Amino acid sequence: MENFGEILNWVDDQQERMVETVKAWSRINSGSHNLEGLAKMGEVVTEAFLSLGAELEVREARRGEKINDRGELEKVIFGPVYHFKKRPSANRKVLLTGHLDTVFPKDHPFQKPVNLDGNTLNGPGVADMKGGILVMLVALEALERSGMAGSLGYEILLNSDEEVGSTGSAAILTECAKACDFGMTFEPAWADGTLAGERKGSGNFSVIMRGRGAHAGREFEKGVNAIAALAELVTELQALNGTEQGLTINPGLITGGTATNVVPDLAICKFNVRVKTTAQQAWFEREFKKILDKYNARQGLKAESHGHFTRVPKILTGANKKLFEVLKDLGKEIGIEVAWAPTGGCCDGNNLAAAGLPNIDTLGVRGGKIHTDEEFALLDSFTERAKLSTLLLLNYAAGNFRL
Ligand SMILES: [Zn+2]
Repeated sequence: MENFGEILNWVDDQQERMVETVKAWSRINSGSHNLEGLAKMGEVVTEAFLSLGAELEVREARRGEKINDRGELEKVIFGPVYHFKKRPSANRKVLLTGHLDTVFPKDHPFQKPVNLDGNTLNGPGVADMKGGILVMLVALEALERSGMAGSLGYEILLNSDEEVGSTGSAAILTECAKACDFGMTFEPAWADGTLAGERKGSGNFSVIMRGRGAHAGREFEKGVNAIAALAELVTELQALNGTEQGLTINPGLITGGTATNVVPDLAICKFNVRVKTTAQQAWFEREFKKILDKYNARQGLKAESHGHFTRVPKILTGANKKLFEVLKDLGKEIGIEVAWAPTGGCCDGNNLAAAGLPNIDTLGVRGGKIHTDEEFALLDSFTERAKLSTLLLLNYAAGNFRL
């Protein structure tokens, strides 16, 4: 353990550099659809990662799809996936993942970091997850500085579409998950240090309801009102909430119609579904189909759906649970109490788990209020969390645990 102490001291010395860097990164807008900003983020982050001496491949993300306001399928282009490989032929291999994107678009008022007090930094992405990417970087630099690096290989994936469901990078996440022994993802921990254990699965869906347009005065009886039909359907979806414990359905967006004197021929609802188990996922899919069939059986109506579950629930399996136990023991060595709790949120840790890779996905900084303009990171957690990840990497490299 003595030699690890020196490395951990080196990590402590990186505090100022980490804080300055997260501020600089926070000033670069990298909203999931700001391709220019994501490219800039990619540039500065990959430059910082050069210190690892890993091989880098910039990979194109698969195009996504969305339903536009006219009910048509549109292609969506995502930013690239930065894929680093270090010592790919090592016997032990770890996958480290992070995302460059944030939920704040280019025209959002929240664009700059501000110190709220000596230990609290408010800013876009400071916790979710530009700070986390720095934790990853410093832990890997620490590994490279140790005498242990030779026995551990790793791959790093930095994607640009996590906040919009990682559909563009999902295939690459799965591919790398299959090549590694466990995964480390750097989403923020809760402010008190709690990590995310089990996670729900999630899917995004659209219903495109088509009726028949008509003049609301002259030929009202010839119309079939798509908005009225969709409103009924949404009420039925909403009623499914509470029928299965843990399953939630959130109709989140609705559009349709053109003018009050026109019977609308089109209305669209987009909604999110969260499930605790894959059985719930199948249950929802069956219920949803039954509802759609009912409207399709009505004269003059056509109800189409688009979308699917993008992330399956993350369950704490044997190996995954063991990984948490290992981290808990390592935390004790540096005075960090490691605890975890289930959450309804999802992240790339769901994707890795679905590919069979045990992983801990909240190894980033401690923080909170993410996805709002009050997002904050606690500065004393930067080196604290980097030390925790360093210990995990060093101990795996040393063969001190197996999964
Ligand atoms: Zn995140």
